[in-house]
Amino acid sequence: MNMALTNLLDFDPAQLAAYCAELGEKPFRAKQLQRWIHQFGVADFDQMSDLAKSFREKLKQNAAITAPAIISDHTSADGTRKWLFDVGQGNAVETVFIPEENRGTLCISTQAGCAVNCRFCSTGKQGFSRNLSVGEIIGQLWMAEFELRRTKGVEPGPKGERQITNVVMMGMGEPLLNFEPTVTALKLMLDDNAYGLSRRRVTLSTSGVVPMIDKLAQECPVALAVSLHASNDNLRDGLVPLNRKYPLADLMAACRRYLDFAPRDFITFEYCMLDGVNDGDENARELVRLVKDNPHPVPCKFNLIPFNPFPESGLVRSNNKRIKAFAQILMDAGIVTTIRKTRGDDIDAACGQLAGEVQDRTRVQERMQKMAEYQNKYGKNFGRIVQVPT
Ligand code: SAH
Ligand code: SF4
Repeated sequence: MNMALTNLLDFDPAQLAAYCAELGEKPFRAKQLQRWIHQFGVADFDQMSDLAKSFREKLKQNAAITAPAIISDHTSADGTRKWLFDVGQGNAVETVFIPEENRGTLCISTQAGCAVNCRFCSTGKQGFSRNLSVGEIIGQLWMAEFELRRTKGVEPGPKGERQITNVVMMGMGEPLLNFEPTVTALKLMLDDNAYGLSRRRVTLSTSGVVPMIDKLAQECPVALAVSLHASNDNLRDGLVPLNRKYPLADLMAACRRYLDFAPRDFITFEYCMLDGVNDGDENARELVRLVKDNPHPVPCKFNLIPFNPFPESGLVRSNNKRIKAFAQILMDAGIVTTIRKTRGDDIDAACGQLAGEVQDRTRVQERMQKMAEYQNKYGKNFGRIVQVPT
């Protein structure tokens, strides 16, 4: 793309209106333009037939609609479809579409790599490369929605059946450590002149960046999933290094505060099932005390994720019997608990397996600098591999 051109995918509705005003156009023109982009998936200004020719000419000279380039596009035997996107300088991110009977869920990435470095996550093991821009985040939805429609022969625009009904920010990266672009992209997902998704059907998943949970509540509350993975601080310190900065008591308090603003009346806790590490009966009972049997409970559901192994993780997935027994203890305590089906295994699209094979080893220096910056901000253990207590 010509660098002088403004990428219109970077703008939320208010910013697009401001940009159009700069070009001397009225606010309703911005709405029309936004519908062309986000409801019809059109990137060519000449096709925007109800915009004045003079406006289209101005746009052609100054702007473009550019999503990240697709490197690969695979469909799994179970219908899961995975795209790998080029985000420049040897970095790639992944987007996964998971079709189900009455909904279509898109799992999107917010960063190339991740600095949190959870023990069981291959994205974390790659280190942090960079934050994605708004255009790169919303571009994943833009491309996937219209590509799916093209594949299925569904017409673009509000009349055609929407392919993506749910979005989860559970791909690569920690969305709350790329806050502004993530929130701008969320606003577009919710906007009626763009994707018009319900707040309840857009879920942000976080490893627990406490101050940013509060900020999200103020700026754009959507459904919240929290990656818990441990029943006490000692265990969690070893699995999710960010816990040393924001321990469980602070995280639980943030979840309670968030619920005052959330579109749903529960938090989803994700819990990756690791054989012999966090999957004992005593861990399940400790979880019940953590979220329920105490003076300050957190209304919640649990989503148990069978660990997806990757080379050199040194960790093993809990067996199915163990996962069921663990789930039973939570359910007996009255907590709604689901076990996540593993989808897209055959194309490496399962949680925590994303882009493992395109690891970029060339930009170590830059990553180290970024890591130092985060450690300054979040404490010296940020992003460190900490031994898992056994
Ligand atoms: N950074 C955010 C969102 C992306 S990860 C977060 O951590 O919440 C999305 C989910 O996949 C998280 O719950 C994460 O803990 C889980 N996950 C990561 N690696 C995994 C693996 N190898 N197996 C199973 N789940 C994994
Ligand atoms: Fe980052 Fe989430 Fe992976 Fe942890 S689980 S390293 S926060 S992407």
